[in-house]
Amino acid sequence: MASEKLYMESIDACYLREFKAQVTAVDDTSVTLDKTLFYPLGGGQNWDTGTISWDGGNLAVTEVRGRGDVQHFVGEDHGLSIGDSVEGEIDWQRRHAHMRMHTAQHLVSGLVYEMYDGARTVGNQIHANRSRIDFNPVKFTDEMIEELFHKANELVESNIEVTDSIMTRDEINAIMPPDRTNMDLLPISVKELRVIRIGDNLDLCPCAGTHVRALGEIGEMEFLGKKNKGKGTTRVSYTLDGCES
Ligand SMILES: [Zn+2]
Repeated sequence: MASEKLYMESIDACYLREFKAQVTAVDDTSVTLDKTLFYPLGGGQNWDTGTISWDGGNLAVTEVRGRGDVQHFVGEDHGLSIGDSVEGEIDWQRRHAHMRMHTAQHLVSGLVYEMYDGARTVGNQIHANRSRIDFNPVKFTDEMIEELFHKANELVESNIEVTDSIMTRDEINAIMPPDRTNMDLLPISVKELRVIRIGDNLDLCPCAGTHVRALGEIGEMEFLGKKNKGKGTTRVSYTLDGCES
């Protein structure tokens, strides 16, 4: 059975740092847990790090992968077996940076679509120190970038609320164009999705990542650079106040 993803339960659950779980599978370098707060690599967002501890030991979790069974990589000779009870703790500084970066990505993706003729988000990479979003089709002038980040920071300062809910495909498509939410790329078999909403539909986007409760928590966004990736795609990089390293 797939690992229960505790961080998915609500935006509030993204703020939890510790949990108890049982080992459901092991291999040479990793353990799989029945439930976890560790976010596995996926959806453009990098994995959480932290520790797993138990009676008589603890190990650093250096990598987390798997969208069904979540594998926590702890290195060789971990000594854990199926059925063992463990406690997990995530590295909060890294997680919180991902939450802020990811929410910033939703905000900027929505703004680019609205401000620049429906330019789509075709890729993103969320990291703790810097993140990037690929847009298509669009060619940003310096003035456009300035306008975009000015608008984004204005909205961050307004501290608009971020909420999550489960919605049907039809409900989502009735509110947002499918090319803005990338709903048109999802298999038709997917009927219900967890969506992240900024304010009163300032942005609405299906997403399984981790996010903050309000835009103010993102802090000041800083443009780092843009790069032409060919075929009308431009990559925009940014960081946030306190995340630069
Ligand atoms: Zn997201």
